[in-house]
This record gives sequence, structure tokens and C-alpha cells, in this order.
Amino acid sequence: MKIHPLRVGRTKVPFGQFYGGLAGADFDEFVTDKDHFIWVPIHAYLLEHPTVGPVLVDTGISPEQTEHVEYYRGSIMEHVMDVDEYDLPADETLTAQLVRLGHKPQDVRAVIITHFHEDHVGGLNLFGHAPVYLGAGEYAAREEKVFGLVPLAYPPSIAAITDWRPIEFTGPAVGGFGGSADLFGDGSVIALPTPGHSPGSTSVLVDHRFLLTGDALYTIRHLAVDDVRAIQVGKEEQYIDSIRRIQWLRRAIPDLLIVPAHDDTEYGVRLTAGLVAGELSEEDLRWAKDWERETFDEAIRLNPARLPHFIPDPDGGPVGRVS
Ligand SMILES: [Zn+2]
Repeated sequence: MKIHPLRVGRTKVPFGQFYGGLAGADFDEFVTDKDHFIWVPIHAYLLEHPTVGPVLVDTGISPEQTEHVEYYRGSIMEHVMDVDEYDLPADETLTAQLVRLGHKPQDVRAVIITHFHEDHVGGLNLFGHAPVYLGAGEYAAREEKVFGLVPLAYPPSIAAITDWRPIEFTGPAVGGFGGSADLFGDGSVIALPTPGHSPGSTSVLVDHRFLLTGDALYTIRHLAVDDVRAIQVGKEEQYIDSIRRIQWLRRAIPDLLIVPAHDDTEYGVRLTAGLVAGELSEEDLRWAKDWERETFDEAIRLNPARLPHFIPDPDGGPVGRVS
């Protein structure tokens, strides 16, 4: 089926949050570090399922979230978040992206969310008419507090949803995953449990070819979990275990293409551009596999030349980029 990446704005994150998990960086450091920001894209995906119709995976951010002070008024998030953490140009809103593909939000037949974080469920209220699938562990944890501060699922983002479909992974083993869930009964959209980034983070395998990882992997380089790691707060073993299972899945499906939600690198940019018409060309497929071969060895260790480094803004601004 066709799979369309929808770029729903971007978010400014500390380099250490994304890449500093092995460098001894900790949570306090990444919350207070205002000198090593990078911008990363926020992606949702529209699947053109042949019988179900348009299916959305994640919903990005909403225009209201770009005014954080208002959006988070009354919660501790008001004080934690930077006002300019999110950037959402008018032509990148979820609605604008759907219109570009000939759809209105009401046309979407089902929504799958990889996890409850705000940059994945910000647009969820547009889909009160649709069933919303998510890992059962994520659903069960929806009122748990993140860092003891705010609910995992921020209530105003999900208020319109009534048809929750918690996913139990009772289907057969797939690659390194002990369980799976065939969401529409035809094997084309399979949910796989990849917890760690959040309690019930879920990845979505489309046509046994594309793995939409949400934030189980921030970027393709995070697949080399012994060399590149995001900062984890509390569930590092689970996060690592989920990535190892993705590594095994990749061995089981040699043509697998890993599609993270925030890949700001050459790989992510090229894959997203290649998929703009919904399908990847043979040339782009070859490029992606060549890139992977140059980046990872057989044990999925990273080519040292591909280790991410922070490159400061040459003009002295607060936001740099990643090599
Ligand atoms: Zn995210």
C-alpha cells in the first residue's frame, strides 16, 4: 500500500537528549542545557489501506501547541517547556498535509499512535470519529505521571477520543518479537511491542517492508544501540531490549526499511523525500541499503565515521546541527 510521510512541523531538542545516552548525560543536564539544541522533524504517516481506507500513524503536533504558554497553562509543563520548542508553519499542519493528499480529517478511518507523547498525539482531537489503536501498556499508563509531573496523556490532546482500541500482542512471533497484532486481519499492518521510550511504545510494520518505529528509534543511527543511545529515564533496559528486537527483525527481513519519526539525518531526509508519492523507487531502495551497509557492520556497530557530533551554529546562534 502507499505510505505517505507527513511532516508536521519540527521540534527543538537538546543534542544530549537524542544522542547523549552513552556519554553520561542525564535528565537534569538535558532539561537545563540551552546551548546544544538541534531541530528535528516531526513525522506522522498516512497509509492508503486498500480496504480500510486512509489510516494515520501518529498525529504530530497541533497549532495550539506552538503557543506553549497557553497550551500548558495551569500545568507544570508551563514552566518546563521552552516557548519555542515547537515550530509548525501553516502549510505543515496535519490538516494541510491531509488536504495535500486529497483528504479531510473526517476521511481517516483509523488512527494508530506509537505512544502518548505530545509530539505524536497533538493532532488526535481531529479524529474523534475514528478508532484509535495503541499498545495496551500505553493505554493502561495514560494517567501515570511523567517525571512525577504530568499525565503521560495530556488530557486536552485526547479529549475527543471515545473509541480506544488497546492492542494486545497475542499474535504470532515476528522476527525477534515474541508477539504481534495484525490490526486489520490481512497481515498488511502489524503492530509490534517496542516499549522503553514510554510504557507501551509500539512500532508498526507495513507490508512487511516499512517499520514505523515512533520514538523506539529516534533516528536510523540509534539502531546501533551500543554506540548511539537516547537518554532514558528509568527504562533503559527495556529500551535497549526493544532495539535488539528491531535488529533481529531486520535480519529476518533483509529488505526492511526503518522509518523513525524524527530522523534529521541524510538517511531520514532522503527516505522521506523518496516516499513523497507514497512508494519508494528502486534507486532509493538501493541507496538506503547501501547507506545502511556503509553505516553498520554485521554486528550492527556503527562505522566510527558516522558517529553523531554536535556542530554549533557558525553564526553563534543557540541551535546547531548534527554531523
Ligand atoms: Zn517524538
